[in-house]
Amino acid sequence: MTTATTAPLTFATTRNPAPASAETREAVLADPGFGKHFTDHMVTIDWSIDEGWHDARVEPYGPLQLDPASAVLHYGQEVFEGLKAYRHADGSVHTFRPERNAARLRNSAHRLALPELSDEDFVNAIRELVTIDEAWVPAAGEGKALYLRPFMIAYENFLGVRSAHTARFMIIACPAGSYFSDPTKPVDIWLSEEYSRAGRGGTGAAKCGGNYAASLLPTNEAYANGCEQVLFLDAAEEKYLEELGGMNIVLVGADGTVSTPLSDSILPGITRDSVLELVEAAGHRVERRRISIDEWREGVASGEIVEAFACGTAAVITPIGMLKSPHFTIENPRVDADSLSMRIRAKLTGIQNGEVADERGWLT
Ligand code: PMP
Repeated sequence: MTTATTAPLTFATTRNPAPASAETREAVLADPGFGKHFTDHMVTIDWSIDEGWHDARVEPYGPLQLDPASAVLHYGQEVFEGLKAYRHADGSVHTFRPERNAARLRNSAHRLALPELSDEDFVNAIRELVTIDEAWVPAAGEGKALYLRPFMIAYENFLGVRSAHTARFMIIACPAGSYFSDPTKPVDIWLSEEYSRAGRGGTGAAKCGGNYAASLLPTNEAYANGCEQVLFLDAAEEKYLEELGGMNIVLVGADGTVSTPLSDSILPGITRDSVLELVEAAGHRVERRRISIDEWREGVASGEIVEAFACGTAAVITPIGMLKSPHFTIENPRVDADSLSMRIRAKLTGIQNGEVADERGWLT
């Protein structure tokens, strides 16, 4: 469903008459955690099959009124995104490759039969919210950021099983804490043998709520086994690496080759893409191909695989410690600050935080 808007949307703004006090905001910024405390405003844009996108607005943050028959509650017709705004030492605020999130949201929306919002309207909407809630962007140098959550829902009160004729796009924002205390600290991950995340032709490459709902039970299994994340294999042969519940996966070979699973059922991560672009520019061979769990296991045993890491917007790059399954474990090599993954991590976070030159024009 394409919905070409001829001109960029203009946003009507209603300021929050009762924003959080400076003391409340500072207390949140001191210890934001993740996803608990939201800023004073939100963006809403409505869509209907007759009018297209319309009524773009910035409003006080607040609850939605949803009819119990709202389609999203029954059939999960929903997609979302996640990106961050970083404050630089000079006080300016920047988002990282937001046009990539815009494009991914369009792809996700297409797969879920939701309307596509133009990249320009998406980026303008981000700019509107970050500008009005700028005071909620944490100070530079602490590794904190403002997390932005754009999402789109079917917004029609109708129980028939068909794509909704009205939809709503929104953005909310919350300060997010630092993952920077010790970036070399590995996470242990659990190999889900019983459950798959996505199959060929399914919604794996889309960022839709249903994928995450399906990952929760195996993630609980991971927690029960002392792991923080779950690794999914392909659904057909249960042999090839796909991704973690919320991060992509990358392996580094002893010869400096960097490999990552190629599959049409994993989410194309913007962090992974950026990491691969940086390592390729640094002269490393990059392979996007099928990687079996046996190849990983044997590669670590023989010393051919020297690093394994997960990447995503939340923690940028996190080394993988142990990979546990009911039948075997893979003990990945320990990384230090000089390891490739940590050097790339320092470069990427440096670009995001304004400490390393943004040669590729990744900041907006
Ligand atoms: N895979 C999944 C399932 C995710 O939820 C995420 C986080 N959005 C990623 C990979 C990494 O994507 P990105 O680097 O764009 O955050």
